[in-house]
Amino acid sequence: MPGSRREFLYGLGVLTGSTLFAMEHSEPELILYNGNFWTVNSRRPRAQAVAISNSRFLAIGSNEEVLGLAAGNAKKIDLAGKTVLPGFIDAHSHPAEAGLSHLRMVDCDLRSIAEIQKALRERAAKTPAGEWVLGFKYDDTKTSEGRPLTLQDLDGAVPDHPVFVVHRGGHTAWTNSLALKLAKIDDKTPDPPGGKYDRDPATGHLTGHVREHGKDVFEKATPSKFTRDDHREGVKLISKMMTRTGITSVTDALGSPDGLRAYQDARELGQLSVRIYCHIYYMFMDQMLAAGVKTGLGDEWVKVGAQKMICDGSISERTARLSQPYIGRPDDFGIIVTSEEELYQQARKAHVAGWQLGTHANGDVGIDTTLRVYERLQKEMPRKDARYRFEHCTVVNDGLVQRIKALGGIPTPFSTYAYYHGEKMKEYGAERVNHMFALRSFIDAGIRPTQASDYPPGPFEPMMALQSEVTRTDMKGNVWGPQQKITLEEAIRVGTINGAYASYEENLKGSIEAGKLADLVVLGRDVFKEDPSNIINIPIERTMVGGTWVWEA
Ligand SMILES: [Zn+2]
Repeated sequence: MPGSRREFLYGLGVLTGSTLFAMEHSEPELILYNGNFWTVNSRRPRAQAVAISNSRFLAIGSNEEVLGLAAGNAKKIDLAGKTVLPGFIDAHSHPAEAGLSHLRMVDCDLRSIAEIQKALRERAAKTPAGEWVLGFKYDDTKTSEGRPLTLQDLDGAVPDHPVFVVHRGGHTAWTNSLALKLAKIDDKTPDPPGGKYDRDPATGHLTGHVREHGKDVFEKATPSKFTRDDHREGVKLISKMMTRTGITSVTDALGSPDGLRAYQDARELGQLSVRIYCHIYYMFMDQMLAAGVKTGLGDEWVKVGAQKMICDGSISERTARLSQPYIGRPDDFGIIVTSEEELYQQARKAHVAGWQLGTHANGDVGIDTTLRVYERLQKEMPRKDARYRFEHCTVVNDGLVQRIKALGGIPTPFSTYAYYHGEKMKEYGAERVNHMFALRSFIDAGIRPTQASDYPPGPFEPMMALQSEVTRTDMKGNVWGPQQKITLEEAIRVGTINGAYASYEENLKGSIEAGKLADLVVLGRDVFKEDPSNIINIPIERTMVGGTWVWEA
């Protein structure tokens, strides 16, 4: 093999661990040429062409080098100079659940309470009296009335059906009177542990707004009967929605046995177009442990991820547990959902059994608590390369960042919040916002943070993530935490190779390299030449997963 070839085929044998593979499949099936490839591989950061065989990159190089490999049957596609990036990895999202919600619930991502009322009323008209009308993706800061939903709004829209509308963040919800009645909650009912039934401070009457564990009684009462087919249909729908934005891999951050099966069912029918790393919620762990399952089981399409636990509240709904109170609410420090000792017990069980751990931790107190649990486990039962995950890891300080670094931990901060939820950050104050979604701090400390939408709470479009991380500017032009801006090149690494690292797959995907899975996205315009405040408008022309186009505009 000539020297030049050796370089651009470099890695093939190493990555597959098999020379046979290289020999059997050394003829490309597909060649993409005339492209502007940003590979995220520091050995060869730019290229013009790639050859693909057996769902993996076979070679990366100049047009001349790669076209020279073409044999009889190779299909050749001229990319006409278009920019190509590795496929994006959304390292924290809720795809199976979001897919089901899109199938069954009213999408309340609307710009006025009147529109939300109309949408709920229309759904109620098609729903037998007495049955639940459910909504999701409601955002209290995005309606033109400039106030949150009320019990009266919901009673006015839908009097004869119980109504339960969940906030976009998923941690709080709004109900109507019939829903409260069916749940047997009245003005005298005490708040549940770890939750709240809000009351009007003047009258003491319930407002219909319920928080955290205050939602549980409603969630138990609402129909959760989904067939196996429903779950699969949900996965089919959401994976289509995601691939058209350039996402090729997703971590399900709160997976269940139903979800895990749905991903497999969809895959068997050719309906899964994104790769899944499926965390398992700790509540389901007994089943998993009894079956001998642990992190890493599966293949490059569906793989078992970490055990997922929850420490504190939410950022977008302002319930994250903070060391200093929320701005304008001097007595409100947010909510701890699971105590440190309880978290430790949950974590220990999975750690002993060989699982990666992922804990939802948003506020600085939540992150400190999670760190203490991980540090204790690592001391008592040290594990090499444990890659402890801090899901969200939003409000940090230098001390927390150093401890995460020392532990080899992985933060998955919200990627689209500065852009999309910027206005909610007022309640954190300008100083604190400079330490939130702290990509600059993480990268400077040598930590590998990921791109993460947390969809439904955050939009998942990777172009929005890049713009948000590079500009820290919301849709109205307000800047949130400018200290944490990162460069475009850094943001792309965060959205690709870092996501692969977070699931132990950095040798399999996350960059355009020989031997890696052929996952990529073709952009309509060169992101490096775009005005950073316009990245969100770059069209996604094509998305490829495993050598197959799963989206073509
Ligand atoms: Zn989440």
